[in-house]
Amino acid sequence: MDNQKKWTRDEVVAIYNKPMMELLYEAATVHRQHHDPNKVQVSTLISIKTGGCPEDCAYCPQAARYHTNVKAEALMGAEQVVAQGLQAKAAGSSRICMGAAWRNVKDGPEFDQVLEMVRSLNKMDIEVCCTLGMITENQAQRLSEAGLYAYNHNIDSSEDYYEEIISTRGYQDRLQTIENVRKTNITVCSGGIIGMGESIENRADMLITLTSMTPQLESVPINALVPVEGTPIGELEPVSIWEMVRMIATARILLPKTQVRLSAGRTNMSREGQALCFFAGANSIFAGDKLLTTPNPDVNDDMKMFEELGLVPQQPFEKHKQPKTLEAEEARFYGLGEKPKWTRPKHTIQRNIDAQQKNKK
Ligand code: SF4
Repeated sequence: MDNQKKWTRDEVVAIYNKPMMELLYEAATVHRQHHDPNKVQVSTLISIKTGGCPEDCAYCPQAARYHTNVKAEALMGAEQVVAQGLQAKAAGSSRICMGAAWRNVKDGPEFDQVLEMVRSLNKMDIEVCCTLGMITENQAQRLSEAGLYAYNHNIDSSEDYYEEIISTRGYQDRLQTIENVRKTNITVCSGGIIGMGESIENRADMLITLTSMTPQLESVPINALVPVEGTPIGELEPVSIWEMVRMIATARILLPKTQVRLSAGRTNMSREGQALCFFAGANSIFAGDKLLTTPNPDVNDDMKMFEELGLVPQQPFEKHKQPKTLEAEEARFYGLGEKPKWTRPKHTIQRNIDAQQKNKK
């Protein structure tokens, strides 16, 4: 049982603001105590259902209401996912993360299809992760029985700042989904985004919420906003590499055992900048030239970077054992669906409304 320290905002802000050399030294020391500093876990993200999302997340080009270049697509077929999974595994990925632009999972044929994808990928001896929006406890159990290794559900920002970014769903529902997943054997991946106009205090509060979950989260992605034209915050300047390094180092110090994931925003970073992030405690990345819909470095460039830095990709199931897959007919939780009670907050966000109302070019 983890006995995690309860951090205060002042303590976390003080760590974040330490002189850079001290911060790097402290984070790298913690990192070495809990991880092999030369190993980096590599995940490949597959967008199995792109665009057309009913939510209003201000950073996301997949929200149907904003006028971006993302076109809505139907749910991908299982064969295509398996083919992409094989390719990703051959290129050094130990995990496939399947993302669907849904508000929440609905029981029915589409969810059954996703369960089938989970079964197929788990049988290929690769870690399987999904990010499908809000899920009930029953849906989490069904994913667990199918052999899901991890569920991603980001809290995005602090509870206070979340209200400035999303108005179609509440923070407590986010936490509830994470709670539902934690009742199963599935590990939890949850993190957030910096560069959305939040303060350092907001960043500290987000990290405190993440540290309050016991046992410690398996994975925490730290994303730098990739501003996309047409979204409400598409005009913001990308964050500097120093902010990213500080955020990763602070996450590493607060969450010693977690895989801290250097996620979106790597295309704006030099190799030297990414090396500093690894030194500060990042030990996982997403590979593949797209992160759902935004650009990501080419796999070959990543492998060249690994070679230069002497990094090696982590093998599947090095940290947690492989889940068993139950076939659909053996699943105990099938047909025990529950009525989800997801809420809709009452507040409005003017910049989200403005972006929605802008005429399509
Ligand atoms: S972040 Fe997810 S929930 Fe929000 S609009 Fe994009 S796809 Fe939908």
